[in-house]
Amino acid sequence: MDPLTLKLQAQSAISETENVKKLEELKITYLGKNGLVNQMMKEIINIPSDQKQNFGKKANQVKQEIQLLYEQKLQELSQEGKQQEWFDITMPGKKPTHGHLHLVSQAIEEISDIFAKIGFIRARYPEVEWEYYNFEALNMSKNHPARDEFETLFIDAPVNEKYGKIVLSTHTSSGQVREMLRVGQPPIRMINIAKCYRRQQDITHTIMFHQFEGLVVDKNISIKHLKGTMDYFVKQFYDENRKTRLRPFHFQFTEPSFEVDINCAVCLGKGEINGKKCRTCKQGWLELGGSGMVHPNVLKAGGIDPNKYSGFAFGWGVERVYMMRSDVKIDDIRYLYENDIRFLRQF
Ligand SMILES: [Zn+2]
Repeated sequence: MDPLTLKLQAQSAISETENVKKLEELKITYLGKNGLVNQMMKEIINIPSDQKQNFGKKANQVKQEIQLLYEQKLQELSQEGKQQEWFDITMPGKKPTHGHLHLVSQAIEEISDIFAKIGFIRARYPEVEWEYYNFEALNMSKNHPARDEFETLFIDAPVNEKYGKIVLSTHTSSGQVREMLRVGQPPIRMINIAKCYRRQQDITHTIMFHQFEGLVVDKNISIKHLKGTMDYFVKQFYDENRKTRLRPFHFQFTEPSFEVDINCAVCLGKGEINGKKCRTCKQGWLELGGSGMVHPNVLKAGGIDPNKYSGFAFGWGVERVYMMRSDVKIDDIRYLYENDIRFLRQF
C-alpha cells in the first residue's frame, strides 16, 4: 500500500473510534510490530532504487502522523471519560480536612468583640519597639529597678539618642503613649492586643505570649469606671455569676495600682468545699492581672494634660485569662505553642 492511502485509511478509522479499547486495537493494527505501517516500510525493497529515498521519507512521515493522530484521539477520549466521571453524582465524595482557628486566635476574637460592644477600638503597636515606649514613657526612667522584672530581650542594633535601645515589647502597655500621640486629644478607648516577649519559660510562662491592654482617657474618669469595665468583661467572658475585686498593688505607670482578682468558679468564692480548702484558688479568689489609674507622667508623655484628663488602664495575658475558664482544662501554657494537632483539635 502506498503511504498516502495508508494514512487516509488510518485517519478515518481513528476519527470514527468511540472508545479507548477500539483505539488501542487500531494502534496494534497500524503501529504494532507486524502492523500495516511496518509492512509498508518493508515494501521498500520492491521500490526502484532511484525512488527509495523519496519513499522512505514519505513512509516515515506517515508513521509519525498516524502516531500523532492516535495520541490526540487518546487524549480526547480520556477527557470525555473524566467529564462523565464528574457527573456521576452517586460517587461518594472525599472529605477535605477542616481546620479551625487556633484557640489563642479564638480568644483574641472573643475579647475584641466584648470590648468593641462598649466602644473600645482595636489597636496594634510594634512588637519590635524602642526602649522609650516600653519603659521611659511609662514612668520607668533609665536604670529604674522596676525594669528588671520585665526579663527584656534586646535587639542587637545601634542605640538611638532619644529612644534608646531596641527591644521586643515586653507588654502591650508600650502602646499606651503611642495611642495617646496618635489620637491627640481624648476621648481614648483602646484595646491593644499583641504579642509580647520575655526571657522566661515554665508551666505558666512562654517566651512569646499575648496581652490585651485597655486604655481609657477622658474627663472625670475614675476607679468606678475601671471596676465597672472589669466586672462587665468577666461576666461576658466567663459567666454571669463572676465578680471582681481590686487588690492594692504597685506599678510604675499607674497610680493607684491594683491587681484584679476574680471569684473562684469551683468553690464560688468561699475558699472551701465541704469544709476542705479549695485547690483551685486562694481563699476564694484568683488573680487575673494588673490595672490602675494612668500615672500623670504617662499622660504627659502622651501630650495629655493630667489636670484636665484622667484615665485607667489594664493589661492582662490572653493565654492566662483563657486558661482560667472552667471549660478549658489546660494546666501547662506551653501546650498552646507545641503545635500538636491532637491537642489543638480538641478546641
Ligand atoms: Zn476556689
